[in-house]
Amino acid sequence: MVKKSTREYVLNFFTKNPNHTFTLQEIEVAVRKEYEKDTGLLDLYVNREVRNLGTQGYIPDLGNIIKPKRGEYRFEKGSGPIKLKSPFPENVKLDIKKKDNYTCQWCGKVETSRDRLAVDHIIPEDSGGKGVLENGITLCTHCNNRKKNLGVSIFGKNMFERYLLLAKKDNDKKTIKFLEEVLKVFEKHQLK
Ligand SMILES: [Zn+2]
Repeated sequence: MVKKSTREYVLNFFTKNPNHTFTLQEIEVAVRKEYEKDTGLLDLYVNREVRNLGTQGYIPDLGNIIKPKRGEYRFEKGSGPIKLKSPFPENVKLDIKKKDNYTCQWCGKVETSRDRLAVDHIIPEDSGGKGVLENGITLCTHCNNRKKNLGVSIFGKNMFERYLLLAKKDNDKKTIKFLEEVLKVFEKHQLK
């Protein structure tokens, strides 16, 4: 008998039980039972694979694994990826602008009555970024477009490079060290 992978066991469980919300523990119990039936063994570790699938979200040819709440998972059968939309409620937008001092966090432009600033997702909606205070950043229209075109990683890198220039100008050694280390991480992962 060919041994099935943990991923196959988990996917099997989901596709047999579509449109139903399970806790991580319920999934673990059911999948391990199935594994034990096949192999007589108990050494299957399910949690990590479930989390991976939850992060992946869209499983080609099968459907989407969505997380209705923390620690809960549901399989929805379907042909394409579900678009995750989580816009900022108006009051949250205001809070984000307040937090950012009504200033574009990239170029420093200040909001005026004629020139409104935008509030954007740091982690994009399509990647599961939520419309909450912690995931918001104030940007002017120009910088917002720039971020959309560049993507999060490169935009972040540019931002840190810009901070580094400012820190060097102020000769702020602690910040310089921090930013140089951050930029090394970008290099290490070849995010250019
Ligand atoms: Zn700007």
